[in-house]
Amino acid sequence: MFRLLIFGSLRDYRRALEFEIITRPAFNPCTIDWPQIIKEKAMRQLAFLLSAIACVALSIPAASAPKSVAIQTTEVANGLHMLVGSGGNVAVSSGPDGVLVIDDQYAYQYEGIAQAISEISPTKTKFLINTHWHSDHAGSNEQMAKSGAVIVAHENVRLRLSTDQVIEFFKAERPASPRAALPIITFTDDITFHFNDDVVHVIHVSHAHTDGDAIVHFQNANVIHTGDTFFRGRYPFIDSGSGGSVSGMIAAANQTLTLCNDETKIIPGHGPMADKQGLIEYRDMLKAVRQTVSDLIVAGNSAAQIVLAKPTAQFDGKWGDGFLKPDTFVKMITDSIKRATLN
Ligand SMILES: [Zn+2]
Repeated sequence: MFRLLIFGSLRDYRRALEFEIITRPAFNPCTIDWPQIIKEKAMRQLAFLLSAIACVALSIPAASAPKSVAIQTTEVANGLHMLVGSGGNVAVSSGPDGVLVIDDQYAYQYEGIAQAISEISPTKTKFLINTHWHSDHAGSNEQMAKSGAVIVAHENVRLRLSTDQVIEFFKAERPASPRAALPIITFTDDITFHFNDDVVHVIHVSHAHTDGDAIVHFQNANVIHTGDTFFRGRYPFIDSGSGGSVSGMIAAANQTLTLCNDETKIIPGHGPMADKQGLIEYRDMLKAVRQTVSDLIVAGNSAAQIVLAKPTAQFDGKWGDGFLKPDTFVKMITDSIKRATLN
């Protein structure tokens, strides 16, 4: 291999053999008296090879080697904490029955999350609930399970984690997760945990962010984790390819609002902690955008024309500076409405 790299081709190498520039079998490039022409060619090719390696190294995006982000812990209620790092927000319930965790961010966040949980409670995590299948919420499942947690999720979360997936909107492939990462308890409509002196009601909301979303209501603490049915202060991603829809997102917000009073604390999938008023504002933004985009579709505009019409203009100042920029969000809403019309 080394010989071919130096000579550039098998033909060059054979020619060197023919002219006895090198000999078999004892080949030692350091001790041979190379003719000048071969030396120059070798140096040129070596320089080219080194520069090519440098180019490849420089062109590797930083995203290919994600770095973990420090976890910030906030107490939301007695025995209930919110963890913020990279990926979706995490909730941790701790008390006499042990530790119950909602969502676990990316796999590379596991060490930080485990450390943050251990600072809240010395006991191992007993249950892990996934609000949906995306890797920024369920990416540490394997490590959590191996450390003893029982994973619980909607049946469609297990289905999607156990098979190869494509997030169609971003054309992002997601290979099936290893067996240990899969939820071993699944539910269809809801499931209730009687845990740490609270009633923890896990409720499926259909076709919202995906087809396997759950919102988690800590009834006594008056806290709700919405999963990605609610992004605070940024346009939400709706994974239509995974069965999500803008109408389902609005329905999920409405359902969550029926559980809220003015004191309810809401942990959104992404963004800082919110309250009922914040969720109402988000729901109303989604409803307004859905209506405007629907009207533009009915009027016969193409997807490109709808983007040019800037249907989110009045909301962009407040919601448009997050993960999804306004034009991308409009494309996504248009796609969601068209899919719903087809079905
Ligand atoms: Zn998600």
